[in-house]
Amino acid sequence: MLDRVAKLKDYQTYIDGKWVDAASGKTFQTLDPYTGSAWANIPECDGRDVDIAVAAAYRAFETGPWPQLTPTARGKILRRIAGLIEKHAEHLAEIEVRDNGKLISEMLAQTKYLPEWFYYYGGLADKIQGAVVPVDRPDHFNYVLREPIGVCAFITPWNSPLMLTGWKLAPALAAGCTVVIKPSEYTSASLLEFMRLVVAEADLPPGVVNVVTGYGAVAGEPLVTHPKIAKVAFTGGTATGARVNELAAKTFKKVSLELGGKSPNIVFDDCILEDAVSGAISGIFAATGQTCIAGSRLLVQESIHDVFVEKLVAMAREAKLGDPGLFETQVGPVTTPPQYQKVLSYIDIAKGEGATCVLGGGPAGKDEGGGTYFVKPTIFTNVDNKMRIAQEEVFGPVLSVIKFTDEEDALRIANDIAYGLGAGVWTQSIKRAYTMARRIKAGTVWVNTYRAVSFTMPFGGYKASGLGRENGIETMDGYLQSKSVWINNGSGGGNPFIMKTAS
Ligand code: NAD
Repeated sequence: MLDRVAKLKDYQTYIDGKWVDAASGKTFQTLDPYTGSAWANIPECDGRDVDIAVAAAYRAFETGPWPQLTPTARGKILRRIAGLIEKHAEHLAEIEVRDNGKLISEMLAQTKYLPEWFYYYGGLADKIQGAVVPVDRPDHFNYVLREPIGVCAFITPWNSPLMLTGWKLAPALAAGCTVVIKPSEYTSASLLEFMRLVVAEADLPPGVVNVVTGYGAVAGEPLVTHPKIAKVAFTGGTATGARVNELAAKTFKKVSLELGGKSPNIVFDDCILEDAVSGAISGIFAATGQTCIAGSRLLVQESIHDVFVEKLVAMAREAKLGDPGLFETQVGPVTTPPQYQKVLSYIDIAKGEGATCVLGGGPAGKDEGGGTYFVKPTIFTNVDNKMRIAQEEVFGPVLSVIKFTDEEDALRIANDIAYGLGAGVWTQSIKRAYTMARRIKAGTVWVNTYRAVSFTMPFGGYKASGLGRENGIETMDGYLQSKSVWINNGSGGGNPFIMKTAS
């Protein structure tokens, strides 16, 4: 059971290795979505704090001990961070449950897995290799250096604050970058606890990791437009991502964007029915549907549609709503008041569009295990892929079931969407699994599983779901840049008015 003491907790933010208030002296409150009450005060940073944090990160990147560290020493620091996360995994999980309303069972799994990102990228820190490149001049020695890009800005959403920060922080530190992080204004507390218990204890030089808490327009925009920021790694909604990309382009920053989704979870009639039902539930009701990879469009082959929906509804109806701090709870609250309103408004939209509500369809009251920001697990059938409920991201426990006839029809519906983040395929046919995986336009395709992620597998979106990839080896490229070095061991002569080539 979470410790829900009545007294508000006061947080400071962490800039240049020190705990500080916002320059404005202002704070804002963060809510416990289960009780609906404020539980902590968070510093309300603005452009002044951003300037101080970026200056500290820039100083730390250019001078001081950080750029002097060998890659092996950086790797050791990352492994130390991993060990500290392991030590504090339970506390970090509890803070995120309090601030975000995510289930304790899910959060413990996340904070216990998070160290692996730091072990993995810690291992890669001293394997960043350039190349010796032959050019057509025998008197030249040419090589390519891989250098850290510089100061990075991370902007993160409220749905998995620590995990999504870890996906960025581990490769950035391994590459030798320094960072300024702006967490979501709805969920800043777990990052501030992470700074206190992990970063501040890991012997990182001051200024290498900094945090500016606050609102998107007030603290986020000055960060995204700051001339000394070399790269922006953003995770959040597609509309915000487009704005961030546009702002960052003015000063030619590298940008990676992890954005929204409306992922198809496709059930063929040759699937193992029980597995597919469980996969469909996990795709939409885990984390209260508040995941970018939610399988929110369930495509079911018409030959098994009715029996499948019956089993699905029967299982979803049993989902236990309640206190996210209890291990038996399966569906928690919606995290933020605006998100709660948005989910309810999409339920109205779906009803207005003529979809059939076969489960849920509104707020869940206290008698149903719910409370202030709870929405009943909701399933709509008779959904046409053209409806708004099928095309727009709800980001809540609302599932649209769409019928399809055959493989071609499933592919047509699956790809007829602006997004391309994830997709699920449930089949026992290897040929079908292979074809679907090849032809679905999405950054991840899961076959006979759903919502699996790993530090080793690239993650990111096609189309409006984003730019670039996180996780795996290739994400390192986003934190590095190449420098070509030409060393002439021959004469410096030749015609100075023509380009130097081999001939
Ligand atoms: P959001 O876009 O509202 O906010 C994300 C972050 O951007 C917050 O920190 C916010 O303060 C900041 N921000 C807002 N306006 C800004 C501006 N003008 N300049 C700079 N920063 C600004 O998203 P959210 O509601 O916090 O999160 C939910 C969204 O995130 C969903 O669309 C979800 O699909 C997406 N998401 C994507 C992934 C992924 O990996 N693809 C993962 C998790 C969440």
